[in-house]
Amino acid sequence: MSIPRLRYRQSRQELLPEFLHRCRDYDRLCPACRVFGWVREGAEDIGLDVPTAYAGRVRLSHGTLTHSAGELPETTLAILSTPKPTTTPFYLLTKGGQPDPMVTYDTKGARLRGRKFYRHQGETNSNEYQCNDKSDQNRTVRGALKPGATFTFTVEFENLAPLELGALLYALELEEGMFHRLGYAKPLGFGSVKVTVESVQTIDWQARLQSIEAKAGWQPIDKAQYKQEFLAAMQTLYGSKFDAVLTDLRALLGAPPDLPIHYPRPTRRFDPEHPQYEWFVGNKRRVERRVKGDLPGPVALLLAKDDRGGLPLIEKDGKEGRG
Ligand SMILES: [Zn+2]
Repeated sequence: MSIPRLRYRQSRQELLPEFLHRCRDYDRLCPACRVFGWVREGAEDIGLDVPTAYAGRVRLSHGTLTHSAGELPETTLAILSTPKPTTTPFYLLTKGGQPDPMVTYDTKGARLRGRKFYRHQGETNSNEYQCNDKSDQNRTVRGALKPGATFTFTVEFENLAPLELGALLYALELEEGMFHRLGYAKPLGFGSVKVTVESVQTIDWQARLQSIEAKAGWQPIDKAQYKQEFLAAMQTLYGSKFDAVLTDLRALLGAPPDLPIHYPRPTRRFDPEHPQYEWFVGNKRRVERRVKGDLPGPVALLLAKDDRGGLPLIEKDGKEGRG
């Protein structure tokens, strides 16, 4: 764990919403641990009579490249930043679940926003992802595939309850126009992947073992029905909370807003003379000077579903970026 330079009374762990806590009880595993498997944290310190692991029931094969649209030339990438836990207006929400530029780890009722997601960016922009100079802070990639490559893989599952299978199918395919993010350089727009399930079959072992026909006991199933039943069951159980999760997912993994996507920075185009950390210095200055009122107000990262205007350009002294 990293130690932020500022000390807060509350630790980050304490601000984690309940649904993101790690599973600790074998009899109360979350759907993901039940399907993909679980190992109890600190299992070595617990008595042998307590169950500390549960085997996953899903196995994914490697993907095989079935169509290639060619490779990108050797490309030096723009610097990929690391999380900055002290940028609290990006990581925290108020008690009411809203963004607030003044929120810190000590704000009463503040909570971490949730899981880290990389927004789907549609098309990449070489002006944003390319860097002219190699340095010890960036990476150069060779043999990266151009958009349009296709891979095929299989997913084996056993003993899944119908709702678990519906959840797995939904998680794989998502919805029309929604994409998974996979691999390196996701903040630069790389790695948007569409997964399509071509067919689903289950096997009836009794029928299979009573016949020498290779296809005996196999039956195709209707994936749409399983997905639909999963969504309907979650709706019944969790109502508007589930709707809110889907709204978030659709905003993050669906079509992006019509704005340039890059790390916050002082200038419209990347300028090595004014690195992006200056934006954060400027926004912090706005927080400090808020009462004085001689600078524009500080900003927080909006919720993805509400973010239509993007963040302003901010210079390191807190003034509006000049573009
Ligand atoms: Zn879990």
